[in-house]
This record gives sequence, C-alpha cells and structure tokens, in this order.
Amino acid sequence: GMWEEAGVPGENPRRHRENMIKPYDFDYLKIIGKGSFGKVLLARHKESTTYYAVKVLQKKIIMKKKEQKHIMAERSVLMKNIKHPFLVGLHYSFQTTDKLYFVLDYVNGGELFYHLQRERIFLEPRARFYASEIASALGYLHSLHIVYRDLKPENILLDSQGHIVLTDFGLCKEGLEANGTTNTFCGTPEYLAPEVLQKQAYDRTVDWWCLGSVLYEMLYGLPPFYSRNTAEMYNNILHKSPVLKPNVSNAGRDLLEGLLQKDRTRRLGVKDDFLELKYHSFFSPINWEDLMAKKITPPFIPSVTGPTDLQHFDPEFTHLPVTSSLCTDTLTVTSSIREAAGAFPGFSYGPPADHSFM
Ligand code: AMP
Repeated sequence: GMWEEAGVPGENPRRHRENMIKPYDFDYLKIIGKGSFGKVLLARHKESTTYYAVKVLQKKIIMKKKEQKHIMAERSVLMKNIKHPFLVGLHYSFQTTDKLYFVLDYVNGGELFYHLQRERIFLEPRARFYASEIASALGYLHSLHIVYRDLKPENILLDSQGHIVLTDFGLCKEGLEANGTTNTFCGTPEYLAPEVLQKQAYDRTVDWWCLGSVLYEMLYGLPPFYSRNTAEMYNNILHKSPVLKPNVSNAGRDLLEGLLQKDRTRRLGVKDDFLELKYHSFFSPINWEDLMAKKITPPFIPSVTGPTDLQHFDPEFTHLPVTSSLCTDTLTVTSSIREAAGAFPGFSYGPPADHSFM
C-alpha cells in the first residue's frame, strides 16, 4: 500500500490506517525554506488548525546522493525522544512513494544570521545569550551520544520569543562533502572544523569548533577564516590562526581561542565537554538554570504578529507557488521512483503520547 504502518514500539497496534497521518491532512500555505533534499513548508493541520513546518524530501534526490543512511540517522536521532528547550521538536514523520515528510515545530523568528546581517555584529551580552543556548543544546545532544557535526547559520533559528532553536540535526552530513559539491548542496563550508575538512576522524569536539565559529561571527561580523575564495578559506581553516581583535573582551577572546583550536585534542571541551564551556569566564554572567527554564529574557524579540507572520523569511521562498503535487502523490511511477519507494523501511513515525492529530 501507499501508506506505511508506523512500527513504533509501545504504539497501540490497533490504530487504524485511517488514523495515520498523511500529506492530505495538511494545508500547505507557504514555502519557507529550501534545504539540500527538498523544501520546508508552512503547513496547517486541517483538523487541529495547528501550524507546523513540514520538511519534504525527495527520495530520488536522496538516493542519487546516497544519503539514505543520513536521513535514517536523522529520523532515529529525532526518535530518541529528544526534548530540549533549544532543539526543534519532531511531531511526526511519514512517507509516500516518492517523498519523506518530517512534521516539525514551526519556528518563525527567522534565522539568527538574518538578524545578524541586518545588524552586522551583536554586542557581547546578546552573543553570549545565543552562544549559551546553543552550547546547552549541543551539550545535551552529546549526553545522548549525538554529534551535531555541522552547525551552520541556516540551522540556527529564533522562535517568536527570541530563543534559539536548532533544526536539522543529523541531516546533510559528511557524505556530501566527499563529492566536492559541498557548496551547492550543503551551504558554505566556512564553519567546518579542520578535521572534518581533512576527512579525519572527528568526535563531539567538532561541535565546539562550530560554536566557536558562530560566536566569532556574532562578535566580529564575519566567520573566523572567511575568504571569498573558497580554496583560500579552506587553507585558512587548516593553517591560519584566527584573528582576535581587541574590541572583544579578554574572556570572549580566550573562549574563541579555546574553541577554535585546530588540534581537537587541545580544544576546549575535549575533557569535560559542555562543562568546560559552562564554567568559562565568558559565561559567568549566565545563570544556567534560568537559561534552561527560559527564564532569561531574550535580548531581542522578533516582531512577529502570529504563527502565519512570514516577515523573517526570505521572500525568494515565500513568493514561490506551493505546488499541489505535495498531497497528490506521483501518478506516473517511473522505475527510479519504484526503486526509491522501498528504500526507507520503517520511516513512518508518530509518537504515541501526542494526540494532536487524532
Ligand atoms: P533545512 O533543510 O533543515 O536546512 O531547512 C531549510 C530552511 O528552512 C532553513 O534554513 C530554515 O530557514 C527553514 N526551516 C527549517 N526548519 C524549520 C522550522 N522547523 N521552522 C521554520 N523554518 C524552518
């Protein structure tokens, strides 16, 4: 059949086929982003009228890029019941013959770097607030033995209150970098850690390097090893020390130096992971317990009027038409679609505790 039964342990086995979530259950309102494998859409669940971000991936494209493993990895990551205030929540995933769907929290405060571009740099307290929310999310993933690996600007969003939400964990990973098309499909390589660039073994410390890159860009306005020439930027990442101009506090520069340490065995976080950051002097103004409880008032509140407010999304996407093909499943089944159809067994997922769709 077209719909796959969700084989989630603990789920009511008598749940009927009609109760399975499917593309038709949503109205697709707007395209809000484009990733490596497909689109992200703003969608409204017809029955509950709740808004979600639905990420739709084309199986064919994933298979062409030999990325099944990574997609399944993302799903298993998302299914580990990951709950953290600064990580996007997955409500459901399901598939049709030719597409995979992820139903995620809709996060509408815009990409962090959209706001950074408008303001060029952030003052230290604001950069510290974002860095600490990101660090706590990464530390949490590490505690579950998950390495995020390629934190990048487009995966760091703000919610409507101004808190960080990391999206896309587990997707679009090192498999793509091998074929030299990284720029086209995986965004810019400017945050890649030296060991990832060199295809060496890496561990959770890659994430602390990436956080260092993000923090550097927030404070100085450009990524640490930036060059318009990609080859030169690669070379800078591998061989140049970061330029740390004194308009940033000593604590900030010391933290950046520790995080942007090329030798991962000497990088900040190599020993006690997140705890080494938590107790670094740069973060001493942060009350981590309040931070986790979202009790720290965000330094900037995105001006959104409600869940359909798309002002922080690139009009390049939001003005695109939403095709009806999303909920009609492909009628002309080509051989490559037929091949792709069975390549993601067990993908469908609906957490038993969430009744918003039933
Ligand atoms: P991705 O394929 O995950 O990199 O997503 C592509 C773009 O879609 C991102 O850069 C975001 O701008 C947007 N996006 C992804 N996930 C969400 C979400 N949960 N809520 C709102 N926008 C999102």
